[in-house]
Order: sequence, then C-alpha cells, then structure tokens
Amino acid sequence: MRMHLPETVREILRKLETAGHQAYAVGGCVRDSILGKEPDDWDITTDARPEEVKDLFPRTVDTGLQHGTVTVLMGGEGYEVTTYRIDGAYTDGRHPDSIRFTPSLEEDLKRRDFTINAMAVSERGELVDLFGGQEDLRQGCIRCVGDARERFREDALRMLRAVRFAAQLNFAIEAESFAAIAELSENLKLVSKERILAELSKLLLSDHPEKAELLYESGLAPQMATHFPGFHPDYRTATLPKEKALRFAAASEALLPAELAALLKELKSDRATAERARLLAEELKRPLPSGEAALRKRLSAIGDEAFLQLMCLKEAGYGAGGEPCSGEALAARLANLRALREGILKRGDCLGLSDLAIGGADLLALGIPKGPALGDCLRTLLDYVLEDPARNKRALLLAYAKERQNKNDRGQ
Ligand code: ATP
Ligand code: MG
Repeated sequence: MRMHLPETVREILRKLETAGHQAYAVGGCVRDSILGKEPDDWDITTDARPEEVKDLFPRTVDTGLQHGTVTVLMGGEGYEVTTYRIDGAYTDGRHPDSIRFTPSLEEDLKRRDFTINAMAVSERGELVDLFGGQEDLRQGCIRCVGDARERFREDALRMLRAVRFAAQLNFAIEAESFAAIAELSENLKLVSKERILAELSKLLLSDHPEKAELLYESGLAPQMATHFPGFHPDYRTATLPKEKALRFAAASEALLPAELAALLKELKSDRATAERARLLAEELKRPLPSGEAALRKRLSAIGDEAFLQLMCLKEAGYGAGGEPCSGEALAARLANLRALREGILKRGDCLGLSDLAIGGADLLALGIPKGPALGDCLRTLLDYVLEDPARNKRALLLAYAKERQNKNDRGQ
C-alpha cells in the first residue's frame, strides 16, 4: 500500500533522511489517512536525537525534550517530531518512570497503544505495518499492540482511549483487549480527572457517543467520577451539534442539574462549559415558553445561543416528559417557537437592559436613588417591555417609572 503525504510533511521527512536519519509519519495521521479522513495533525517519528532535529530546522519549539519531542514550524503549521523511544517501567500505572532513545523503528511502534495507531509511512509513501493495523482498520477493531493486560497495566489511560476510539471510529474493542479492560478497570483511578474529561469529551463529541455504553459494560463507569452513573449518551445524542455543554446536558438527562454541575466540577471542567451545561439541564426540566411574550422573557433570561441549544435538545427528543403535548404536536410547537424567535430577532425587539429606550441616568433624573432601587426599576421596565415591545418608548417608560416611583413613595 502506498500513501500520499502532504508536501510539507514530505519536506520534513526528506530533510531528515538527507541528513542520514530515518523518519516517518506515524500514529493517528496514518490511521486517519487510511480511513480517508483528513488528519488533525501530522506526527513524525525519527531516529534523529532532539538536538539533531533542532540543528536541521531553522524554526523549532522545545515541546517535550525529556520525551524526545521537538515541534518543527513550517508553512505556518507545527509538526511534532519525536525521537524513536522505548518506555521504561511504569510504576504509577500512568507514566513511564523513564524513557530511552532507540535506533529501532520497531521498538518505537511497539510502545504505541493500538495496532491501528502503530503504523508509519515513509516519505515515498511506503507503509510500515508490523502488527496488523491495516487489517484491524478493515475489520473495525481496536486491538492492543502486544499483551493487552500488560499494556493497560502500564498506562490505565489506554483503557479510556480504547472506548474513545471505538466511539470516534464506530469500531469494536477486540475480545482480549476488552477482557483486559474489564479486569483492570479499577486502575482508572490512577488517571487524572483532567485526562478523563479530555477523553470523555472526545467520546461525547464523536459520531457514536452511544458507545459510552462500553464504559458500563467494562466496569470503567464507576471509576470515572461520583455522579458518572447517570451519564448515558444515546442515539439521540449523536444527532446533536458537536458542542460540549449541549451534549453533556443531553447525556446527563437522568441527573439533576446540580449533579451534572458536580460531575463537571469533579472532572475539572472549565467554568463556562459547566455553567452552560447546568443551565441547559435546568431549562430541560421546565416547560417551553408559550407565546411570544414568554419567549422574549426566556430569550432575555438565557440568551439566544443557549435558547437555540435548548431547541436542539427538545427537537432531538430530550426533556419531552416536561411538555404537556408529545409527538407531532411537540414538533409543531418547536417549529412555531423557531418562527416566533426569527420574528423577534428580525424586528429587533428589546431583549435586554441595553436595548431599553431609557437608561439609568434618566431614572436618576427622576429622583430614583442610585443602588438596588435603580436596578429594580430598570428590570421592572424591561419586564414591561418584554411583555409588549411597542412599549419601548422613552416617554411611555418615563411615565411608567414615575408612576411606579410615586406608588413606592406612597408605600403602595
Ligand atoms: P487524536 O489526535 O485524533 O486524538 P491520535 O492517535 O493522534 O488521535 P494522540 O494522543 O495524538 O492520538 O497520540 C499520537 C500517537 O501516540 C497515537 O496514535 C499512539 O501511537 C501514541 N499514543 C498516544 N497516547 C498513547 C498512550 N497513552 N499509550 C501508548 N501510545 C500512545
Ligand atoms: Mg494526534
């Protein structure tokens, strides 16, 4: 089999070869190219030492010299060039205690996790496949390189990677590798929460998030996080846009919003994702707004982006239990809400304080004191306008505010 590599990758390989070294594109990029997918990035493996790589290329970054990795910058992109290496003993079940460089490509390929990730391609496009990676790609099979138990015992993250690749590629995990995961699933506790979240996110954003079931079947699920059981992406999740918070909210339909927030906190998620996921989980438990005024209020409260995500969730069949209608009637309601939203946005109806025809200074001029009273008054005016956008007129709002102020003064 011959493969075609991008010109910049070939240039890097050629330069290393001309200097008397071996060099290959390796790992995920080879796997993805064989599958006909555009690789995200191209990694290169070579017998050249990091210092030799740095000497050969004018622009490099020391990405991980201790692991043998130098990033070569070329044509506006970065290419990780890593020296062939053998991993030493793994005593923490996650990282090798040490690594050593080797002149052997075979040794370097042997340390890789799965056969489909352990292939290399030369500058001339010749494929090096020592462990049957091509055949496993054809069969749709995730299989460890070498003894599965040993490989998962070395690095527990590989168990989660196996499930993640199964979801990304719609592959099955080979029986012996799967049995090894089931046996060693408890070792997942050796993996940092950040790495668990990173893998889980890739799984969730894949074409087959329903493959998360493998986490339950293998016994990995209880090791993921306290509230993890309750996280169940299914065939509906796959129909959703590939947005993290959106898919987390979907997959966690069985969890309370506070439990989902706790799950994401435990996994050390960024705040924005956690807050959006929680908001969507809360919104899913509420009935949809009914009528245009209610819709404006909801848009004002949660913002258009979150509202659109909520619509996607509802359209995919999430949160249907909270609605009085179901099936076709629900679909019609959702279509109607989308149409109403279009109208609201097209007309430019006031949806926030900054769209109000009057502002804080006008209220101060009316004698409303600075502080909470002013904020209260503005929000009341906003509610009044959300009810009917035609009310967003300066004179009308000033009169409304004055009347409200007089009532307050009279203690009504
Ligand atoms: P993607 O980048 O799409 O997530 P990938 O296969 O490129 O997939 P990376 O994490 O970028 O995955 O790793 C690059 C290569 O390094 C892999 O293809 C594999 O050969 C090797 N590798 C990565 N992580 C491990 C690991 N934990 N154990 C063994 N080999 C690994
Ligand atoms: Mg990669």
